[in-house]
Amino acid sequence: MNIREKVLIIEDEKSIAQFIAAVLDGQGYETIQARTGQEGLSMISSHCPDLVILDLGLPDMDGLDILRQLRSWSSLPVVVVSARSHERDKVTALDQGADDYLTKPFGTGELLARVRTAIRHTRTTSGNDEIAQRGTYSVGELVIDYNKHQVLVRGENVKLTLSEFRIVALLGKHAGKVLTYDAIIKELWGPRAGSGNQILRVNMANIRRKIERNPAEPEYLFTEVGVGYRLAEGE
Ligand code: CA
Repeated sequence: MNIREKVLIIEDEKSIAQFIAAVLDGQGYETIQARTGQEGLSMISSHCPDLVILDLGLPDMDGLDILRQLRSWSSLPVVVVSARSHERDKVTALDQGADDYLTKPFGTGELLARVRTAIRHTRTTSGNDEIAQRGTYSVGELVIDYNKHQVLVRGENVKLTLSEFRIVALLGKHAGKVLTYDAIIKELWGPRAGSGNQILRVNMANIRRKIERNPAEPEYLFTEVGVGYRLAEGE
């Protein structure tokens, strides 16, 4: 890595903040830390980080308030950190503009993957540069061909319905990132679409049956329980 990306960790639990910092420092990132929301907000302005890792439970303010304030003037990538029991918060955070989330406790690999993906997606504006150039997205043996409106798995053309293709196409454009049920539904069926995710779930089950070797152990389409879906990210 030639340019060292600067990551601001806003987390009041010192042990967690130091774990994150150690992992990222070890990978060549530069890290800075804030223990409170106020400190975090002022460090965003004064240190211009490339990415923020944001704990939702801070002593002086709610992480969601920081996100809300930040999103009023900045598209700086934010990866939210939260406890497993707070699924609603994660969904809210994603719908309010967080780029991704990590569930405590998380491991090194997961942390690095989320950080890498969030930074890569800002670098390539909407994350579509490669797709725009080649017209395809591929991961493992899955290829999404955006020009031909086709999905190939292990070289075979998968017969998808239009809705199924649009879901796969959308997840492919944001590969590696979780998209909430609501975000997918609004993107596919418009802002006035109901928030029930039954149709989406049925579509996802059908897509899985068509593209996964074993739908119970997906290689490509992952469910983030209570939150949304994520498509595997290619190298
Ligand atoms: Ca906390």
